[in-house]
Amino acid sequence: MIGVIGGSGLYDLAILENPETVEVTTGYGPPSSPITVGTVAGRSVAFLARHGIGHRLTPGEVPYRANLAALRELGARHVVAVSAVGSLTPRLRPGTLVVPDQLVDRTKGIRAGSFFGSGVVGHVAMADPFCARMRTTLLSTGVAGVQDGATYCCIEGPQFSTRAESRLYQSWGLDIIGMTAVPEAALAREAQLCYAALALVTDYDCWHESAEPVSAGLVAQTMRDNVRTAREVLTAAVKSADTETRCSCHDALAGAVITDPALIDDAARVRLAL
Ligand SMILES: [Zn+2]
Repeated sequence: MIGVIGGSGLYDLAILENPETVEVTTGYGPPSSPITVGTVAGRSVAFLARHGIGHRLTPGEVPYRANLAALRELGARHVVAVSAVGSLTPRLRPGTLVVPDQLVDRTKGIRAGSFFGSGVVGHVAMADPFCARMRTTLLSTGVAGVQDGATYCCIEGPQFSTRAESRLYQSWGLDIIGMTAVPEAALAREAQLCYAALALVTDYDCWHESAEPVSAGLVAQTMRDNVRTAREVLTAAVKSADTETRCSCHDALAGAVITDPALIDDAARVRLAL
């Protein structure tokens, strides 16, 4: 089972055969939307719309923990997250698909960002926040023009950046800007899922001298124009993903929990059965 999380502009996975909607409940509440389960080239895929049906959840309201717990519960061990992003560099023009390799957190610390807490402490490694194997899968589909590598700056939103912020992020060497990879990538690591992102560049944020500043309309229009390419990449990636070989992501919790095991109660064990 491969999980796909769709962001702005990707609310269904038109490539799914025999789609069936399933309701999943988790110890973290319901996910953003019912999950559509089907097959692509004979492989099971579970699709979740990150912002809910009809795009009703702001990036700060998305139940990230429930989303990843639900996909995991359905049997997914590999997740591709699709998101619309702004570009902070001339290298990544609107319409480009890019597979980010790094992440900087500029959210406001108000999102539930860990499965740990309430008596159980664990620290997972985040040096490389995206799964190298899944990244390679997304970059090896043969679909032309998919760029390798970008540092994703995740802001709180839902407002877009000011021009001063946009230029500040540029001066830090950040390449793309979005609102959802934090805490999604970290939670995927804690859930021991292979997780990579496919980012669709919709605009130049607001630093560009001649391009029009980002707006919701601009994001939606560019997504409509490019969502077909994103689906092509997803289809090919699902077909070719190696889900058999064990990945280091699947052992992300080895040695991560530092709470005395004798002090972890049964309720916490059930909650973290992930
Ligand atoms: Zn992995």
